[in-house]
Amino acid sequence: MAMRVLVTGAAGFLGSHLTDRLLGEGLTVVGVDNLSTGGPENLAHLAGEPRFRFEQRDICQPFDPGPVDYVFNFASPASPPEYFRLAIETLRVGSVGTENTLEIAARYGAGFLHASTSECYGDPLQHPQTEDYWGNVNPIGPRSVYDEAKRYAEALVMAYHRSRGVDTHLVRIFNTYGPRLHPGDGRVISNFMMQALRGQPLTVYGDGNQTRSFCYVDDLIEGILRLSRSAEHLPVNLGNPVEFTILECAQAVLEITGSKSELRFEPLPQDDPARRRPDIAKARTLLGWEPRIALQEGLAKSLPYFKSKLAAQIATP
Ligand code: UDP
Repeated sequence: MAMRVLVTGAAGFLGSHLTDRLLGEGLTVVGVDNLSTGGPENLAHLAGEPRFRFEQRDICQPFDPGPVDYVFNFASPASPPEYFRLAIETLRVGSVGTENTLEIAARYGAGFLHASTSECYGDPLQHPQTEDYWGNVNPIGPRSVYDEAKRYAEALVMAYHRSRGVDTHLVRIFNTYGPRLHPGDGRVISNFMMQALRGQPLTVYGDGNQTRSFCYVDDLIEGILRLSRSAEHLPVNLGNPVEFTILECAQAVLEITGSKSELRFEPLPQDDPARRRPDIAKARTLLGWEPRIALQEGLAKSLPYFKSKLAAQIATP
């Protein structure tokens, strides 16, 4: 019988791409999401798919999806403006919600993969970041609701592995982009793409010399699938190790869109990490994985999606 898999956060950017990939491999998927930041439009194409069932629910309430072979825990607000807005909800989904999903995995003897984050490294003092770096996190700053929830979740996952024998996996996801990134979620790629397409100024926070490393979503999902099938229980970084300043990112978006937008400099948010780049040596060795899609190519692949979002916004002002 085909594997039956639970995906939490299934209506989100990564959860919906993961769901597509699992269905594409012939698996049966139960997707749950409370739709606090994810949207049903990300799953609309699955209407009528007999191997997919969607349940709108908050994983902070205990639930039983029935027997499952695998749990992918992807439920959480993930963009800074969204987790500032949903501060307590973010802490709860990382703690109570993650514990509830670990209980499901323990009950059914299912494998478990938790979506962790490069934010575990905070504003890193080690560069690039390897998995054995413990991080530099402000525990009470505005980003702490996300960072500490994800760090607590990692501790919880390791405890369920060590104390309860659950077959767990931890992926530390670095900045990822692609179709279904919410156009209004405030992240840099979605902001720049929408601003460029509208001919509005690109809002660069700070001086734009802070760096990020951007991974195209298909590359990331491939790495996640490989990790889920590996024997590794300790965290594994997945992301694109090619590092860009935010100014370079703005330039790339202007080139892809052909936009003449100017740059508008705005204040840097508090505790915004100065630089971030994954060391992916572990993923390379362990999973034989590395990203294939460069930023320019990934932005070009994402362009039709952002254009369609703009067209929809113009049609329904
Ligand atoms: N950023 C920016 N302009 C924007 C949105 C974000 O300059 O309109 C910057 C932000 O300050 C950060 C980087 O881009 O340094 C990445 O921000 P994002 O919110 O995408 O994710 P983060 O990596 O901070 O979680």
